[in-house]
Amino acid sequence: MVLKDRVAIVTGGSSGIGRGICLEFAREGACVVVADVQETPKRGKYHEKDITTPTAVEIENTGGRALFVECDVSEEASVHHLIDRAVAHFGKLDILVNNAGIFKPGDSQSLVMADWDRIVGVNLRALFLTMKYAIPHLKKSKTGRIVNIASVHAFHGGGGPAYAPAKAGVVNMTRDIAMELGSHGITANTVCPGYIETPIQDYLTEADIQHCLDKTPLPRLGKPRDIGRACVFLASDDAEWITGVALPVDGGWLAPIGIL
Ligand code: NDP
Repeated sequence: MVLKDRVAIVTGGSSGIGRGICLEFAREGACVVVADVQETPKRGKYHEKDITTPTAVEIENTGGRALFVECDVSEEASVHHLIDRAVAHFGKLDILVNNAGIFKPGDSQSLVMADWDRIVGVNLRALFLTMKYAIPHLKKSKTGRIVNIASVHAFHGGGGPAYAPAKAGVVNMTRDIAMELGSHGITANTVCPGYIETPIQDYLTEADIQHCLDKTPLPRLGKPRDIGRACVFLASDDAEWITGVALPVDGGWLAPIGIL
């Protein structure tokens, strides 16, 4: 168990990738704070159709320790409450995973300003908020870790004029935080998922999903566990000298030289 007794907050932990990260952290012995706007897992049109047990309940059912805290990561007071509640319950904080994110399709003409603000607010601004309030506690840990979830869209256009720049911003904000926190022994890294089977994909058609599969060199789509294992590694002692990196976990999606 490489995360035994470490205390981790995972935002957006009720569904999808966040749930996968929570379950893998718990499997490795971590105490997990599941932070989300709702406790009930989201059920997708294509993926996670049958998941009904809340993440924290699932962890406790298998002998782990977990706490659900309702939190909207875009609200400063809500984030402040989350960090206070986590530390009050488990006594410390070792790991912060900023996973909560939203996507809304649209281009420069169809996306209204309120959508742009919301997408950037949840996918980028919120990470600044959680880090701001978590860092004083991470500095007290001997194994402080920040793992931020971006996307393969951080590196190229095609994710829309709000989502793609927000995710690119996550990669660079993480590098900056890595520099700020290096002297405290805290690492900060980004994981950039390719297509992962979660409810966020509900906006796609079945043909779109087949296209993603066809473009992925490894012959399957990603699962929340794939991102969970990468986060376990980055949060573990094995990654103690890795900081400021952006790690694609994408089945090889970014490997080709261009779009063919
Ligand atoms: P899901 O929509 O499946 O799950 C996201 C979870 O975050 C949901 O439980 C959602 O709640 C919650 N959430 C949304 N907004 C907030 C908020 N303001 N505060 C707290 N929680 C919130 O998405 P994924 O699991 O697929 O995505 C997780 C992360 O991975 C995101 O950052 C996403 O951009 C990124 N990503 C995902 C990829 C994929 O293929 N799945 C690919 C690349 C990146 P609610 O139920 O209300 O929506």
